[in-house]
Amino acid sequence: MKLSELRPCDNCGGKIAPAFYIVRISQALVLPSAQQSVGLMMMFGGNLKLAEAMSPNPDAVMVFGDQDKSLMTELIICQGCYLAGKIDMVRLAECRNEVVAAAANEARFIDCGECGSEMDQNTIGEWVCLQCEARRD
Ligand SMILES: [Zn+2]
Ligand SMILES: [Zn+2]
Repeated sequence: MKLSELRPCDNCGGKIAPAFYIVRISQALVLPSAQQSVGLMMMFGGNLKLAEAMSPNPDAVMVFGDQDKSLMTELIICQGCYLAGKIDMVRLAECRNEVVAAAANEARFIDCGECGSEMDQNTIGEWVCLQCEARRD
């Protein structure tokens, strides 16, 4: 993580340095393949560890944020807020997701160096001016 990626505490807006907390939140799902592990567990006398060792698909829980970083919400919490423990995780995560979505939206537009109009990115990643059709990578 770079210094430039830091920001004030997501809960109180206060200073975070030098020691603070990163809270990573992701939704997770138990996949249908979990039934295989459960089935094997019954064959192995209730031993889930052994069943998972024998299962072709032992990873029966999918953590969305592990699959796709954009599905992981990352909160920065200062030590004071963390220790006080009065954090509304859901509200903070929603606020954070809105900020990230807005930033991603903004990054999709740049201005044309030729005429100053808005440029749009085409399917091969080239930026094309909507006004004068100037291009750049
Ligand atoms: Zn704080
Ligand atoms: Zn232009």
